[in-house]
Amino acid sequence: MIQRIPPKSGVAFILRKGQRLTVTDPEGEQVSDLVAYNLDDRKEVISSGRSLDYAGRMFLTTGDVLYSNRSRDMLKIVKDEVGRHDFTLTPCSKDTFRKLYNEADPQGGCQENLEAALSEYGIGPDDIPIAFNIFMHVAMDPETGKISVLPPLSKAGQSIVLEACMDLVIGMTSCSAGESNNFVYKPIDYQIGSGVA
Ligand SMILES: [Zn+2]
Repeated sequence: MIQRIPPKSGVAFILRKGQRLTVTDPEGEQVSDLVAYNLDDRKEVISSGRSLDYAGRMFLTTGDVLYSNRSRDMLKIVKDEVGRHDFTLTPCSKDTFRKLYNEADPQGGCQENLEAALSEYGIGPDDIPIAFNIFMHVAMDPETGKISVLPPLSKAGQSIVLEACMDLVIGMTSCSAGESNNFVYKPIDYQIGSGVA
């Protein structure tokens, strides 16, 4: 069954070892922040640093593994129709909107939406790491390191498929940051399937 995350919102759910999670951008140019925790010990959490370190690349795609802070396999990318995602920037938040967009009284972002969705699993605000930012298009100047957030390369209907390597709690959003989504807020679809094709 395909489930929909409405614009500017988040969900949390359990993904069992071997299950596959398909994340689809139904309208195109929409980011989804994904975080993952070991279901049995939620101090074990998805790690940008370890994943990029072991891949030896900034951009992860088919065949790459998303590792935990304990260097264990959490998720494996088994299919990727877009090929460009970010694993460096934190979930957008009220503070992001204050500091980067100069909004005086912003609404919550992915951070707040993940906090709300993950609270039922005993996961608190300080437990939310750098997310795997599905479809987020971040470019960096190789000389200065200057970061640019560009419109996602995802077109309507394109997807990525991740397979769970352990039992997980997953948090996922439809991102609320204007720049990340070409200034149109859209939904994200996802589907959980059995792993063995
Ligand atoms: Zn966001």
